[in-house]
Amino acid sequence: MKFEDLKIIEPIMKALKTKGYSEPTPIQAKAIPHILNRKDVLGCAQTGTGKTAAFSIPIIQLIHKIEGNSNAKPTLRSLIVTPTRELAIQIDENIKDYSSNTNIKHAVIFGGVKQEQQVRTLKKGVHILVATPGRLLDLISQKHLSLSDVKLFVLDEADRMLDMGFINDIKKLLKLLPTERQSLFFSATMPQNIVELSNTILKNPIKVEVAAVSSTAETITQYLYYTNRTDKNNLLLHILKERKIDQVLIFVRTKHGADRIFRFLTKNNVKAASIHGDRAQNQRQKALQDFKSKEITALVATDIAARGIDIEKLTYTINLDIPNIAETYVHRIGRSGRAGEDGIAISICEPEENAYVKDIQKLIGKKITVIEDNPFPQTDKPMTEEEKKEWNKEKQKRKQEFFANRKNGKQGNSRSDKPKNERSKSKDNKSRNKAKES
Ligand code: AMP
Repeated sequence: MKFEDLKIIEPIMKALKTKGYSEPTPIQAKAIPHILNRKDVLGCAQTGTGKTAAFSIPIIQLIHKIEGNSNAKPTLRSLIVTPTRELAIQIDENIKDYSSNTNIKHAVIFGGVKQEQQVRTLKKGVHILVATPGRLLDLISQKHLSLSDVKLFVLDEADRMLDMGFINDIKKLLKLLPTERQSLFFSATMPQNIVELSNTILKNPIKVEVAAVSSTAETITQYLYYTNRTDKNNLLLHILKERKIDQVLIFVRTKHGADRIFRFLTKNNVKAASIHGDRAQNQRQKALQDFKSKEITALVATDIAARGIDIEKLTYTINLDIPNIAETYVHRIGRSGRAGEDGIAISICEPEENAYVKDIQKLIGKKITVIEDNPFPQTDKPMTEEEKKEWNKEKQKRKQEFFANRKNGKQGNSRSDKPKNERSKSKDNKSRNKAKES
């Protein structure tokens, strides 16, 4: 199949050529004709499949048909709502590329930055607006924009949207959109609540599906290292060095963990940056840019911040924490091996996470190759239920102390930063070091 077979118009074809796309990806081949036929679409596709272009290209084409090269003030005809700022920026960048030979005006709005610039852009008028829900509703309530002319609505990454608690915002938005419209709904997973939400948005949708969430791209080779918690960082350094990795996205579970690994890598002369929800938008953008331009080697990210990061030709992802939700693993490793490129996903597993690996293998339907040549093999055992209880108590105590100290203006924790069992470490209880981020 060729883009020509999809009846893509010349200005967009030219842009695709510039991007170096030779043929449509499966989701594009399946979705584009229906969208051009003005059908509602329910798309089940994971990231990395080319789904952004699958909806952006026909949207640009449909609007171009109406607007031609008119220089009149643009009317907002299409709204694309997506959960994270990074994803919003990325979609807008794609639209910029695909529409570069047309007169289509587009913009992106998201929270965490001042609104003035966004308001100025909206005043000039745009045809396509990419937005995160909070800022969008904010600007609508301030009357900086109206959705009354939106004929094409896209809800992207719907499953993540619900995970992030945006359901009420989406309901509010739906009330503001014209009922006569075309809607496109994309989600990597289709659990019951997502199907129910899609029923409230779509009319007689065409279903397009390219890969179940359980499938990890065939182009991604997956490896697994079993180690002890206390050896994780050293094993990470070993892997970076041994494989001569020059660009890697490292996943961790918490914001605090992301900063801690960033500091550890920097101390060990690995150029790194961290990206998570507590960092200012400009810091996140800078980190992303430095990573894309290979100014830094490692970008340490939490799941939510990493959503939407699209690095062309990224080979390596490393799971320094194994996600406790198996689908998250699929999302994470999908950051590499995109659009047919080769990817390598390495997971570093401590005893407490052994069970998560089992869940992941069940979901993806295959065993991940275990690397035996490992200078830091796993020798510890997972905690027993009793030990877990003890440790959770200890963790709670430490948290309370930490916040009490902060309130009293003291710096940090008067006690050691390590868990009790680690502080009273002896040779035979070394195996009970279970400090997890919380
Ligand atoms: P997405 O799933 O939309 O995040 O896209 C994943 C990556 O695939 C992005 O880097 C796109 O630029 C790229 N891509 C999208 N469509 C194509 C195509 N037809 N040929 C080659 N690369 C593509």
